[in-house]
Amino acid sequence: MKVKENFNLKQHNTLAINCHCDEFILLENMHDIEKVLPHVGKQGLFVLGSGSNLVLTKNIEKPVVHLANRFHARVVDGLTIAWAGSNWDDLVMWSVKKGLGGLENLAAIPGTVGGAPEQNIGAYGAEIKDTVVWVEVFNYRTGVFQRLSNSECRFMYRTSIFKESDNPWIITRIAFELTPHAKINLAYDGLKLELEKNDILDPTYLDVAEAVTKIRQKKLPDYKELPNVGSFYNNPIIDEKHHKRLARKYQDIVSYPLENNHFRISAAWLLETCGFKGHRMHECGFSDKHALVLVNYGNATGKEVISLSKEAIRAVNQKFKIKLKVEPQIIA
Ligand SMILES: Cc1cc2nc3c(=O)[nH]c(=O)nc-3n(C[C@H](O)[C@H](O)[C@H](O)COP(=O)(O)OP(=O)(O)OC[C@H]3O[C@@H](n4cnc5c(N)ncnc54)[C@H](O)[C@@H]3O)c2cc1C
Repeated sequence: MKVKENFNLKQHNTLAINCHCDEFILLENMHDIEKVLPHVGKQGLFVLGSGSNLVLTKNIEKPVVHLANRFHARVVDGLTIAWAGSNWDDLVMWSVKKGLGGLENLAAIPGTVGGAPEQNIGAYGAEIKDTVVWVEVFNYRTGVFQRLSNSECRFMYRTSIFKESDNPWIITRIAFELTPHAKINLAYDGLKLELEKNDILDPTYLDVAEAVTKIRQKKLPDYKELPNVGSFYNNPIIDEKHHKRLARKYQDIVSYPLENNHFRISAAWLLETCGFKGHRMHECGFSDKHALVLVNYGNATGKEVISLSKEAIRAVNQKFKIKLKVEPQIIA
């Protein structure tokens, strides 16, 4: 365990917001986890992964815990068990190269393994809820380790028990069911096209992961060059009546039918139609590559990012009577 005081978090959040924390605690392995207990005060702790789903609007006063970014995964009795500090994409590529399927559509999502359950990360028709067997947590209030089963995690679209509750948990390890028999999922059109372009008609898990990575590189701005947290809003759901009204007025509406006569609307389309693609305010703005991505052009503060985000929420609500929900966690 290493402890640093008055630590700058700019390199530890992908929006590159310049904020500090009073105490930064690096836990290097499983033996270190319990050593955190003497540092737990009334306010508890904040667990930081790669900071790829956070907007820091002020310094963090409670101790910040970070699990060392060291890759560790192994297969035990058919389960793939990974250290929560491991890089997510390293786990995806490690598994597909071993011929284990299940995570290939989630390739190239930034972040750590431990950061993935909170919003049940998803992309290209897959979510981690499809393969998680258990999530191991350390309760820093009681000092007890516990394993939450898939159903106990209450995974849903971009949420889970880890987002919904103010819990005293450090996620330490996650077990996944990855198998050589997992069905390849090419439901997302662009993915099939990308593979066909390279004459791959019977893809392996590795082929799919590489195709997903290529598409993502083309579509999304690289946070290392243009700091961002990926999609800034969830894709909202509206009912059939509302959808009909909009579809009459906007023939180019981008939406997907769901069960129970509801539709999921593309938040990127809503923002683009309101003119936010490429819209800039001071040091931050909406990417000109993808309207759903809010980027930091240099020295944006978290407050500026939130202010621009609220401007977009107001405009979308006014035009479409739809209230966008912010996807990353706002630290305020
Ligand atoms: C360019 C880009 C593209 C993205 N694309 C996608 C996408 O396609 N799909 C998607 O779902 N997301 C996407 N994201 C969002 C983000 O990558 C994921 O949410 C990621 O899983 C966050 O992991 P992290 O380690 O960075 O977590 P952080 O941002 O550090 O933390 C997020 C939350 O998880 C908690 N947390 C982190 N680690 C632990 C732990 N060990 N124990 C307990 N709590 C913990 C934190 O306290 C915080 O509440 C994207 C982000 C970027 C920058």
